[in-house]
Amino acid sequence: MHACCNDDCLCIQFAGCSPDAENFILPVDEFHFGGLYFEAECGSLLSHALHEIKAGDTVLIKPNICATWPQESGAVTDPFVCKVIADIVRERGAKPIIGESSAIGFDTEEAIRLNGYDKLREDGYEVVDLKDKGLETVKVPIPQGKSMKEVILPKIVVDADAIIDVPKMKTHDQTIATLGLKNLKGYMPDTYKRKFHHSIGVFQGCADLCLIAKPAFSVVDGILAMEGLGPVMGQPVEMGLIIAGKDLVAVDAVTVAVMGHEPMDDGCVRAAVDTGIGIADLKKIEVVGETIDNVRRRFKLAEEALAEVAFPEDFQILMDERTCTGCKLTVMEVFMDVEKQNKLGEAAGMTIIAGKMDKLPDIDKSKMLLVGACTAKFRKEGVFVEGCPPNNRDVCAGLAELDLDVDSGVARVDTLEE
Ligand code: SF4
Repeated sequence: MHACCNDDCLCIQFAGCSPDAENFILPVDEFHFGGLYFEAECGSLLSHALHEIKAGDTVLIKPNICATWPQESGAVTDPFVCKVIADIVRERGAKPIIGESSAIGFDTEEAIRLNGYDKLREDGYEVVDLKDKGLETVKVPIPQGKSMKEVILPKIVVDADAIIDVPKMKTHDQTIATLGLKNLKGYMPDTYKRKFHHSIGVFQGCADLCLIAKPAFSVVDGILAMEGLGPVMGQPVEMGLIIAGKDLVAVDAVTVAVMGHEPMDDGCVRAAVDTGIGIADLKKIEVVGETIDNVRRRFKLAEEALAEVAFPEDFQILMDERTCTGCKLTVMEVFMDVEKQNKLGEAAGMTIIAGKMDKLPDIDKSKMLLVGACTAKFRKEGVFVEGCPPNNRDVCAGLAELDLDVDSGVARVDTLEE
């Protein structure tokens, strides 16, 4: 423990500070693949921080490969960061497994290929699609869970001796950011992810997951980050940072602060603190060698970016935390294409609904588009688009029935199976 610390204090160390640091923020000079600075400085500090990993351990490295979005978008963890961590794990005689399950509606294998994780496979690293139906799953009780008392997880997650969380630094449409806590949702098969949105609740669900599968270490890839319409449709931001530590709540809190926002305004951080998972009080997180202020850059929030889109005044999209990423992205992608094709004005008067809803609001149903299986119970009352999530082209077909003709190319094929 650093000399400045007491029992409540967590040190955030920068490059050049004590290699004994348990938590640190590192500036990375070269943000692209193969940045030697990253390997030399960050690698050695991470190596010290991961000293508890023992020979023979199996270590699950959990990146964010949430969607079939490319590296340059800032949406997906850089495979180079995972490679550095995997190499450290190997040096300790342990076995690294990189594992991820992309968001509902996305093919993890396709996301793996698109983002260069298949190259890691070719180089002998194990990269596992946690959606693979061949994987054994186990039911894990969570007696202390506030939102769920059990969960089904791939056995590979449960059996890991340690988990290293490797989220991306980016904004999220339901809260401030999606970081280490939110990244844990990618442990689960799609059926359980859907429950998180519909009944369990994403923020408390992630906190409850920590009660049974808390990462031993969290490494935020803030090399190329994302602001605005995160988690995938935002703008890339070159931050050149790695933020890492043993308490993923503290790491998330510091990262939210670096992104220019109040940590406790983030739903995942707040739920984790309320559940006693970790510390988010910046006064108790000592920053050594640099200050958060020196690297702080205010990230535009998703809601701020959405407010800049010139939707007609009487147009509305009704989606909330019960709407999965798959449906949200489909709707947003289509309407970004509507904007690009200068047809937003033709959406005047429309209401687009996706996700679970108990009853319909009092709206003009002749201009209502119901998107996805969750809205099926209202299908007789408006134009309904089938799918879980639906393809963009099917949403376009629904819009055409409402006299808005638009092309939106993405055709997602991975639908949820019960
Ligand atoms: S229809 Fe959409 S919101 Fe409903 S479960 Fe499927 S992806 Fe999620």
